[in-house]
Amino acid sequence: MPTSLHDLTFDELRELIVRDGLRPAHSATLWNALHFRADTDLNQRTDFLPPLRKWLDAKMGTEYHTDVLAIASEIFSGDDLTRKYLLKLQDGQEIETVVMGYPGRHTACVSTQAGCAMGCVFCATGQMGFVRHLRPGEIVAQVHHARRILRESGERLRNLVLMGMGEPLHNYDNVMKALGIISDTRGANIGPSKISISTVGVVPGILRMAEENSRYNLAVSLHGSTEAERAALIPANQRWPLSELIAACRTYCEKTERKIFFAWTLIAGVNDTPEHARRLAALLSGIKAHVNLIPLNETAGYEGRESVETAGEVFHRIVQEVGIPCTVRQRRGIDVAAGCGQLKAEKRRRGEKSTL
Ligand code: SF4
Repeated sequence: MPTSLHDLTFDELRELIVRDGLRPAHSATLWNALHFRADTDLNQRTDFLPPLRKWLDAKMGTEYHTDVLAIASEIFSGDDLTRKYLLKLQDGQEIETVVMGYPGRHTACVSTQAGCAMGCVFCATGQMGFVRHLRPGEIVAQVHHARRILRESGERLRNLVLMGMGEPLHNYDNVMKALGIISDTRGANIGPSKISISTVGVVPGILRMAEENSRYNLAVSLHGSTEAERAALIPANQRWPLSELIAACRTYCEKTERKIFFAWTLIAGVNDTPEHARRLAALLSGIKAHVNLIPLNETAGYEGRESVETAGEVFHRIVQEVGIPCTVRQRRGIDVAAGCGQLKAEKRRRGEKSTL
């Protein structure tokens, strides 16, 4: 199986080039094409020096390849601010990548796995099950796809969230390697403070981020403030109970001195009452926290319904009153099925050929 050049860090790429007898300077040229310019076809480059061109001609396709993801489907929201792509991996699996526009900035939401093992009941990806982890290059390739899309209109990708298909901390090593490549200042140059990792509460991953003093933002999906309520929405709570999750969050805050963003999807009658808000506020007491309230993206596989606006407003006020910053997250691209897995699920419902 050929190695993807997009799987390699700058140092690994240089080692490989030198091992094959080329001067180290060629690795900088190649890195520039792969990660700064995000070229889709290295054959189109006319400025490679003969040794590098010869090396590529001899090795590409047999020993090495690149990750450039074909577009299987794309849809734009009515306001054209959200663009959602179903991208095809080389083994035929399909993953979702979303590009969202906000005033003055753009954010890409990328996938870290094909499918997901966590099984959150309200999530279209969770309803599909797990297929496989993505390699670093397959995560990097989604970012380059978003950068190319934005470049066409003279815009730049500034922020990245790992909130697409899959649980990032379940694919820890590949995700962290990909983020190292993406944040490299010689390439895509998206700084760690502009990158957010969203987890459903994989406790060992949170503790590892704390231990490594990881510089990326951490977002934890809570959705329930008692063991039973949370387990009903997030089966992973049985493996990593809420009590252990909150303890891990405290450890993370103490070691890194960073705040944690807690996501709470508001589901009518399930977790959106004033009592739920008060319990959440008590649970987060003493943690450097910011709560993001998210309206439910309704899916065909879950009967829960979106909260009414007033319930969200009351919830928001109660959390803020105890001094925890709280925002109601703008939902982007509801008309393009922007909840993770929804485009893929929609394609399956229509009976189009699917690999998941
Ligand atoms: S919400 Fe995230 S962790 Fe849960 S099933 Fe969906 S993709 Fe997986």
